[in-house]
Amino acid sequence: MTRKPPLGLKHNRGEPSVLNLRSDGKVALVTGASRGIGRGIATALAAAGATVICAARDLARLVELVAEIRAAGGQAHAHVVDVASRESIEALISSVIEAHGRIDVLVNNAGITRDNLLLRMKPAEWDDVIATNLTSVFISTQAVMKTMLKQRAGSIVNIGSVVGLTGNGGQANYAAAKAGLIGFSKSVAREVASRGIRVNVVTPGFIDTDMTSAMPEAAKQALLASVPLGRTGQPRDVAALVVYLASDVSAYITGQTISVDGGFHM
Ligand code: NAD
Repeated sequence: MTRKPPLGLKHNRGEPSVLNLRSDGKVALVTGASRGIGRGIATALAAAGATVICAARDLARLVELVAEIRAAGGQAHAHVVDVASRESIEALISSVIEAHGRIDVLVNNAGITRDNLLLRMKPAEWDDVIATNLTSVFISTQAVMKTMLKQRAGSIVNIGSVVGLTGNGGQANYAAAKAGLIGFSKSVAREVASRGIRVNVVTPGFIDTDMTSAMPEAAKQALLASVPLGRTGQPRDVAALVVYLASDVSAYITGQTISVDGGFHM
């Protein structure tokens, strides 16, 4: 007796199986890859078969990451970028396209905080956060678009924050940038969907990285008390969703904002 394959395991007409989250042959660019969530995403995409361009400001850390990925059998390259500079982003993306002839996945992950209460917030604290967390994404998305349009394929994943959904005292600049990212991503998703390009936002909650390690212990405990799953997240928790959104298994998902936050915002 021949057994029917279980639902989802059938793999015909070149359609991706629901179990195939691989990105073999794809070229992926991850900004802010030197540490934290970006490092987790770069490592996971390489493990899924993509050639990953790891970009950030700190070349030494990037070189170390690339060596780690290659030692594990993956493919990666290091590239210095300052996402607060238009010239730097444009140079990065032209060099990726020149070297690899394509770009399939763009993960806009680099981000900073410059926390202050509104009345004390300096213009530079506002400007730096908007430039690094929001304007950079406008520039990089524009820079990859011609190539993705020609390919008639591409997945752009923007790393937002639950703070962009809930707001947070002391983070008016950061919340504005992260909320702006959502409106930007939905608009571009509508513009390019007919050409096979998808744009989604991943909104992490409280993830263990350098960005959150500086928080006072009491503030961490207070925050944890409002996380139903009762723990902080790890970069790999965010990376798993990015691997899914980069893969063709998520081909019918665009314009979405998906949280990885232990249930913090629901
Ligand atoms: P992190 O500070 O550990 O790492 C940030 C990365 O961005 C580093 O690689 C850094 O070099 C890079 N970066 C910063 N400014 C840059 C610039 N001008 N040019 C190039 N690279 C630059 O932070 P993280 O926690 O890993 O955060 C990654 C992303 O996730 C950010 O967008 C952040 O806003 C978002 N996020 C983090 C959390 C969290 O709890 N950690 C929660 C929600 C959202």
